[in-house]
Amino acid sequence: MIQFYSTNHKAPNVNLADALLTGQAPDLGLYLPESIPQLDSEELRTLKDKSYAEIAFAVLSKYTGGVFSDVVLKTLCKDAYNYDVPLEHITNRTHILRLDGGPTASFKDFAARMMARMFGELLKGSDQELVILTATSGDTGSAVANAFLGVPNVKVMVLFPPDEVSERQRKQMTTLSGNIRTVALDGKFDNCQALVKQAFADPNLEEIRLSSANSINIGRLLPQIVYYIYAYVRLAEIGEPIQICVPSGNFGNMMGALLAKRMGLPIERLIIATNANDEVPVFFRTEEYHKIEPSRVCISNAMNVGHPSNFARVIDLYRGWIDQTGLIHRMPDLKRLHEDLWTVSVTDEETRTSIRSAWQNHNLLLEPHGAVGWAGLKKYQDTEDNPDALTVCVETAHPAKFPEEIEQLLGIIPDTPPSLQGLEDKPEFHIELDNDYPAFRDLLKETYGA
Ligand SMILES: *Cc1c(COP(=O)(O)O)cnc(C)c1O
Repeated sequence: MIQFYSTNHKAPNVNLADALLTGQAPDLGLYLPESIPQLDSEELRTLKDKSYAEIAFAVLSKYTGGVFSDVVLKTLCKDAYNYDVPLEHITNRTHILRLDGGPTASFKDFAARMMARMFGELLKGSDQELVILTATSGDTGSAVANAFLGVPNVKVMVLFPPDEVSERQRKQMTTLSGNIRTVALDGKFDNCQALVKQAFADPNLEEIRLSSANSINIGRLLPQIVYYIYAYVRLAEIGEPIQICVPSGNFGNMMGALLAKRMGLPIERLIIATNANDEVPVFFRTEEYHKIEPSRVCISNAMNVGHPSNFARVIDLYRGWIDQTGLIHRMPDLKRLHEDLWTVSVTDEETRTSIRSAWQNHNLLLEPHGAVGWAGLKKYQDTEDNPDALTVCVETAHPAKFPEEIEQLLGIIPDTPPSLQGLEDKPEFHIELDNDYPAFRDLLKETYGA
């Protein structure tokens, strides 16, 4: 059974079930697998003709042994991945992987749907309910709420900043009910996250079993390994190197690619594009880390993160140590870090230019997050002279989630996928709350207390 250690190295190792159910380690570090299972070329070859759900099973079963039986995991994969994962050829050997086919039209569905099903299995027949607290700037809340809707023994509370989420993003959360509660906090995303963190650390809430579905949870990362492997076996000659480009905020999505690389996928370079929240690109340039507080507001709103929690995992995988406050205790192996990862920051102006030029030059429709990735990839290609390398850039949301921006730039309105249709007419339910911790604690006690 694979054990998981904390990046702060001051908490006991746990198995996958405990890592999933607790989210963050008790020493406030993040869990990573003690040994990373391997995928050799022989096995990659066998995945070539498999469906997405079958590839997900092949990859995830390497982590779930002893916790979920193969029969159960196979069913979860089939059930979670019942939608398309399109790969589009754009130019030369560059491709776009569209991760927007799920029910809330962002890549977060991939992890949220698997995680919810795993929680459902683990809590089957349990006599205690688990409460998942999640702060969202838009896409996490809807993906998590949608995925956990109706899962027995699990309750979900989502905190969102009403002024920072789009109407469509809000309606994707507030039109659900059942075991889902949504809270409009009179504040910013940073305030939502701060209240959630405070609740996790509050001894007065010990009677409520809290967990997290933010990407501090290892359950959010493992399913995100799968689509990089899927893209690779669809496009590459097995053994051939590939470059992957990921628009990044909290660095959960890129961690999926980094774990895929450590499993043996021949990822030659991982290109990480951030918006103006450039604390990591600045670290790569200066070797000094300073978080950005408050985070900078950009049109790629789901990437407005001033201190990506998963950076602790990246640093750990290169033998360094950075704690949850952003303090570096031990520098990582910078030489290897630079060999494997290339980081770049993209402004809003460059993001808009990227949306226009992708459309005009390649008939490629991108939304702001994918456009940050595309712009970052162009910068990489201009710097490194390797235009023929096989490359995959991920598009993390559906353009129809950002109709105003796209109409303004391109004069077209993106087609609305079925998952986003009909939201207008559904009734909304949400609780309004001041940005005040005692009020939040009272709400939690009233809603879930014994
Ligand atoms: C969450 C999100 C991101 C950022 O992903 P991280 O894992 O936080 O780096 C990028 N694009 C979209 C559309 C998102 O919802």
